[in-house]
Amino acid sequence: MSTPVAPAAPLPFPADWDSLLVLVPHPDDPEYGTAAAVAKWTAAGKTVRYALASSGEVGIAGMAPEQAGPLREDEQRRAAAIVGVGDVDFWGFPDSKIHNTAALRGKIASVISEVRPDVVVTIYGGAEFRPGAPNQRDHIEFAAAVTDAWDSLSDPPPWLFQNGPEPTHAEMVGDYLDTAVDSLAAHEVYLSVLDPSTPVREQAGAVVAMTTSGHARGPAAGFILQRSTQR
Ligand SMILES: [Zn+2]
Repeated sequence: MSTPVAPAAPLPFPADWDSLLVLVPHPDDPEYGTAAAVAKWTAAGKTVRYALASSGEVGIAGMAPEQAGPLREDEQRRAAAIVGVGDVDFWGFPDSKIHNTAALRGKIASVISEVRPDVVVTIYGGAEFRPGAPNQRDHIEFAAAVTDAWDSLSDPPPWLFQNGPEPTHAEMVGDYLDTAVDSLAAHEVYLSVLDPSTPVREQAGAVVAMTTSGHARGPAAGFILQRSTQR
């Protein structure tokens, strides 16, 4: 087995911005790779907001959507608060049925126009995280909707990134790993049903380690530049 190696030296993630909007389809998506960087950014005084297309209501096996949706929203708000994010919005699109529709693109475009962030970070939209590890259809559809919505804006923000493999840009997060683990572990019911045999904090630690490793200079959150008005 060979260890996956990141492509030649990603650039440092931009630092000259004040506000960032994280756009994802489901609760826990911000905690699978982005939350450690969010903790660093908010600690530096930057403003980060989350907006989620769905409430993840079909994500807890054996639990009715009417019960799971509000529960997962609560867990997401707690996870966000741990990394300094107080503004979390849920749009009510149906979990597991996210499609790149005019309605979704319209919502994304209107939220970006309203919030006017300097940076947008969204979910990885590639087909596979690595060979044999396919991405989820909701993620692929949502990421495509974000790019399409972006391209419809007459005055888009300076930067659009996806959080994912083979990054073009990296944020070093070595000091924020514990905070990121706490943030993911806030999805307590979700994780305990997902894997009943592994303690929640242990699951969270494994995910944070996996999503921040493989970088030459230490633990990092990786981002793939999609659009930029900067040079
Ligand atoms: Zn997801």
